[in-house]
Amino acid sequence: MILIVDDNQSNLYSLQKLLESKDFLVDTAGSGEEALGKALKNDYALIILDVQMPDMDGFEVAETLADYSKTKEVPIIFLSAVNTDKKFITRGYASGAKDYVTKPVDPEILLLKVKTFYNLQEQNIAMKKTQQNLELEVKGRRESQVTMKIQLDHFHLMLESLPQIAFTVGAEGTIDFVNGKWYDYSESEQNFPETHPDDFNILEEFERARKRGKALELEVRIKNIRSEDYRYHLLRVTPVYDEGRIKNWVGTFTDIDGQKKAEKEKDEFLSIASHELKTPLTSIKAYIQLLDRKLKLDKDSSEAGFVAKAQNQIEKLNTLITDLLDVSKIENGKLKINKKSVNLEHVISNAIDTILQTHDENKVKIDRHGVKPDILIPLDEIRIEQVLINFLTNAIKYSPHNNQVIVTTFVDEEAQEVRVSVTDFGIGIPDFKQGAVFKKFYRVEESSLQFQGMGIGLFICSEIIKQHHGSVGVSSVINEGSTFYFTLPLN
Ligand code: ADP
Repeated sequence: MILIVDDNQSNLYSLQKLLESKDFLVDTAGSGEEALGKALKNDYALIILDVQMPDMDGFEVAETLADYSKTKEVPIIFLSAVNTDKKFITRGYASGAKDYVTKPVDPEILLLKVKTFYNLQEQNIAMKKTQQNLELEVKGRRESQVTMKIQLDHFHLMLESLPQIAFTVGAEGTIDFVNGKWYDYSESEQNFPETHPDDFNILEEFERARKRGKALELEVRIKNIRSEDYRYHLLRVTPVYDEGRIKNWVGTFTDIDGQKKAEKEKDEFLSIASHELKTPLTSIKAYIQLLDRKLKLDKDSSEAGFVAKAQNQIEKLNTLITDLLDVSKIENGKLKINKKSVNLEHVISNAIDTILQTHDENKVKIDRHGVKPDILIPLDEIRIEQVLINFLTNAIKYSPHNNQVIVTTFVDEEAQEVRVSVTDFGIGIPDFKQGAVFKKFYRVEESSLQFQGMGIGLFICSEIIKQHHGSVGVSSVINEGSTFYFTLPLN
């Protein structure tokens, strides 16, 4: 908007019309005082100021405007009929005028000047706004940098107070922070601790995880640089995401050496106990069989029933001890797999027969689905049968109100593997516990009181399948049933 200041109403009017005809927004003031009041209240792009006014003349108005920060930048054009003298013009410029126009005004010249100043002032205002925005942005960035630094310091302080060794790695794979405990196991911030020669190399494993963008979890023995002892640690390195991209990685080494030692002692105890139990049990089994043959009891007599029950219980005890022995064999890496080319269909039907013979036929109904795998596969017949018997026994055990079990077989030519699954319609397993059922001694809490067991059958199964380079898994819906499966490579 342009402000015209003149004490002469007709001058004001004609100038206003002239400017408005060129689409300028115009405001007017009839005196110097009024002009000052308006200039302080409104934003003007240009002021056209008459020099000769009663009370306060144009020079005084201009000088006062130059004193206020709000108005000091507004360009002023003086209009004067009388004071064309050089010294007046000089005073006009000295008091802050941008130009000086003498009356009678040539409208075209005045318009050209007004346009030029108006545009200049508009550009000036726009530039100022940009500058203000830039300053705000710089301030904002500086503030967020300070906040980030505070957050980072706080985060590092937290890592420092952890009982574990803690570190962070940049997205490109270089270690950028380590806490104090790091230096118990490494001389320098840039090098991971030295691992036991029989364990995985941390750098190689981390690089692999980093390239796949997956978290790393590893049990490794690392060397204490003072005592030179190797201690078991659980290493976890987890990616930190920022807007969907990995920003960096946070890692910890947790000392699990005590836990590992206790586990080892427990495994040793289990191994000794199961071996010691196995010998007398084998003798009891043999004596009962001898007794049974010698006594030649009538099949329907109660004595024959007692002997059969004793044999049944001995069989159960035998299975338990054999399972415990298998666990200790797995722990010691001594679970031997003797692979031979075997017809998988025979193994499956043998396992189903064993289950049908050892269970009341009214309580079990096993159906077959899928094409029967009448093919030769390199496998350990006894061990794969053991896996199937375990899946089937569980399917029956954990389905107290439904006797139906389905064995499904599927040969996947593309993946070059065969898949065998056992489906039941029993109690099911909660979602978040399904991943754990293959762990050693794990039992689902909700069902552990109602059903007897030690929680090692599925652990042994998964180890057997692992040694065949296959995979195991489960899908289950609570109160609807479960499907346990294993796969074996065709070659
Ligand atoms: P156990 O049956 O002796 O407890 P397993 O290793 O065979 O041990 O099974 C581990 C756990 O998995 C079981 O305790 C049970 O909670 C769960 N589970 C296994 N099979 C089934 C199934 N078919 N239906 C429901 N839960 C099952």
